[in-house]
Amino acid sequence: MRYETVIGLEVHVELATKSKIFCSCSAHSYGSEPNDHVCPACCGMPGMLPVVNKRVVDYGMKAGLMLNCHINRTTTFDKKSYYYPDLPAAYQTTQWFAPVAVNGLVEIETKEGKKNIRIKQIHMEEDAGKLVHDIREDTTHVDFNRTSVPLIEIVSQPDLSSAEEVEAYLERLKSLLRFAKVAECEMAHGTMRCDVNLSVRPEGSDKLGVRTEMKNMNSIEAIKRAIEYETARHIDAIENGTEVLVQETRRWDDIKGKSYAMRTKETAGDYRYFPDPNVMPVVIDDEWFDSIKESLPEFPEVKRERYAGEYGLGEYDAERLTQSIALCECFEGAYAVCKNAKDAANWMISDIMRILNNKQMTYDMLSLDGATLGKLILLVTDGKVSRANGKKILEAMFEDSSIDPESYAKENDFIISNDTGLVDKVVKEVIAADPKSVADFKGGKEKALMALFGKCMKELKGNCDPQTLRSILIDAVNKA
Ligand code: ZN
Ligand code: MN
Repeated sequence: MRYETVIGLEVHVELATKSKIFCSCSAHSYGSEPNDHVCPACCGMPGMLPVVNKRVVDYGMKAGLMLNCHINRTTTFDKKSYYYPDLPAAYQTTQWFAPVAVNGLVEIETKEGKKNIRIKQIHMEEDAGKLVHDIREDTTHVDFNRTSVPLIEIVSQPDLSSAEEVEAYLERLKSLLRFAKVAECEMAHGTMRCDVNLSVRPEGSDKLGVRTEMKNMNSIEAIKRAIEYETARHIDAIENGTEVLVQETRRWDDIKGKSYAMRTKETAGDYRYFPDPNVMPVVIDDEWFDSIKESLPEFPEVKRERYAGEYGLGEYDAERLTQSIALCECFEGAYAVCKNAKDAANWMISDIMRILNNKQMTYDMLSLDGATLGKLILLVTDGKVSRANGKKILEAMFEDSSIDPESYAKENDFIISNDTGLVDKVVKEVIAADPKSVADFKGGKEKALMALFGKCMKELKGNCDPQTLRSILIDAVNKA
């Protein structure tokens, strides 16, 4: 018999807000001491009242709209009760009855073609703390820096049917949420985590099989391996009766390449969801809704088509630039000033992306101002600065964002002089100092000219149009 895998994902994404969801503690504790960013509210002290961070609702709405969801204009928070040492209040404040966004749709593309994945809902909630196990002391410490860091949980319908589709879906979420600047979505940093719900059924059947869940997966490679392992385990159980499948939560061990039963799956009833009386319902009026709608970016593929159409870039270049919203903004800013899309794309791809790669920075980490880049491009296209010195100015702009390309060029003697008298003088001096290269060139060694050319360019600090220098140099050598 042939089987199909049915997969639904619950993806937790950490929102890129400055502060936590219900208090003003910093949401970013990287590099801090444990429990540096805590207050009575996020530590769940009795009597402390949470206040909703408006930015979290902004981002929740943006995420919802990027994923084609309906936005609930009255959205409420609920208590999800469970006891665990990393959850100081013994309940998580989350959304159950009226999540911020529902009924969305995400289009993915794999080798098999395009497919729509339905989104059941997106809800806003607080993260839990971190348990730190100390093997030497045989104790466990708890760090509450992460408690109440804002998350959205994106719940898909069980519309995914392979590891490839799951990968495409996660990449698509990442791209859309990064374009809207609501989240980093970096699995390696823990800012995107994924619960995989999986079942197997005979192909064509409309009845779902027994579902198992693997929680907190944090690498796409591990997710793909886990899906393949679980699918094989389920089919083996169904066909050969090797085990009885039960609805449960399982732990994926990526080193052993196996999943292990953790606990039988809780049902919603176990969590005793009820409206949190301490958090007022959030009512999203037209003005608020419209302002969020207007702030949404173009979708990556819309930009890609526009870059290829309106700007006349090659498909490949358009594809590369639209990998990141930061690249797009820098490129568009530069284009607005220099009015030459091909030049701007060339600087983006052959210089800026190379520098980012060398510095091991992600494309989203680019903070270069596009308009300033545009000014630099103009200096080069107007023949005021050589391309080589333009690169040096760009490197400097990466180190110091306050640099104005033209002033920097003047300060560092990068302005090309139209003074051919100076070029003549330098060429004469270089030729006089290196009679061997002159003789070699005359004797047929083409390379000797390059040596002389290099010395002249160095003397001129690169401030000469290469064609001009070349013709003056050849003239002078032939006369020598
Ligand atoms: Zn706090
Ligand atoms: Mn959750």
